[in-house]
Amino acid sequence: MNRDLKVSEQLLNWIRPEIRELSAYHVPDAAGLIKLDAMENPYRLPETLLSAWQQGLAEIALNRYPDPAASELQKRLTEAMQVPEGKSIVLGNGSDELIQMLALAVAAEGRCIMSFEPGFVMYSMIARFAGMSYVGVPLASDFTLDMAQTRAAIERHQPAVIFLAYPNNPTGNLFDAGAVEEIISLAPGLVVVDEAYHPFALSSFMSRLEAYDQLLVMRTVSKMGLAGLRLGLLCGNPALIEEINKVRLPYNINVLTQYTAGFVLENAGFLDGQAEMIRADRDHVYSQLALLEELEVFPSQANFILFRVKQGSATEVFAALRDQGVLIKNLDSPGPLQNCLRVTVGTPEENQAFMQALEQALRS
Ligand SMILES: *Cc1c(COP(=O)(O)O)cnc(C)c1O
Repeated sequence: MNRDLKVSEQLLNWIRPEIRELSAYHVPDAAGLIKLDAMENPYRLPETLLSAWQQGLAEIALNRYPDPAASELQKRLTEAMQVPEGKSIVLGNGSDELIQMLALAVAAEGRCIMSFEPGFVMYSMIARFAGMSYVGVPLASDFTLDMAQTRAAIERHQPAVIFLAYPNNPTGNLFDAGAVEEIISLAPGLVVVDEAYHPFALSSFMSRLEAYDQLLVMRTVSKMGLAGLRLGLLCGNPALIEEINKVRLPYNINVLTQYTAGFVLENAGFLDGQAEMIRADRDHVYSQLALLEELEVFPSQANFILFRVKQGSATEVFAALRDQGVLIKNLDSPGPLQNCLRVTVGTPEENQAFMQALEQALRS
């Protein structure tokens, strides 16, 4: 792209001001680095499944549009994710697209989307894309829900949708289930419990769908090992799901994703094994980090760990790690994430390389 190429202010004025104010979601180049920045599962499809998968792949009719409803895949996901009887699902090109579909479906003058800060950046970004306002309720200093502030914010802003990441990203903790239930009960609109990290937390609101019509549970296959497929699902009351489904673009789940996700779910045993390893390795990395006195380490029920380094040193530590070939995420900014870094749990070898690089970085 030629950055000198100027376009007239008059043309740019057609772009909505709230879009012009945004900065595009930045994904750093990870070439040649140990990639521990994006909560990916470090393990690939097992060798033993490769040839069966490839055989099926070769039979896909690439010249045909996909099944618009992805019915086969819906059936498999409903089973695999234990969606309660009588509830429906809608699929997205990643859960990011489901967040966008929700925003498009509820957006109207004066309505807002609410979530918690620090939290997942897509909720606020997508609220703005959709022309809605965003209310971020601050978490307490230990990143638990501040219920006094939350009750007041719900009462005052009457949010169309409340998003709760369970466990939360980037903090890694699981909110108190009773507090989440209270939020669901108080909400005037929809409440989405985003369970992107479910395989690592093993705690879910899926069964609570029976109790609350306003509750929607969102899952994704990204963090459990299929980030490249882009597939998420939103579960809930059929009447609500049907409305949200209306803003879904036809064919949003392509043939390769439909086939591959179906194939993997049919052979899903290995995913549980991988998640179990990652949970054990997370606890191991956590205890190693906790031994380093200069760090503040936050407990995690996800596949990543948030930690705080000494005042003013986050950018330096981040760069020292990258220079040693390890890419993590620098979250340092004024506010509750000041001096904070986030590392994704990788393979034992990757985790060890990270720990060595970190110890080196802290020493220099
Ligand atoms: C990673 C993440 C997602 C995004 O999932 P995709 O399905 O890959 O779009 C959603 N919610 C939270 C909280 C996440 O951390």
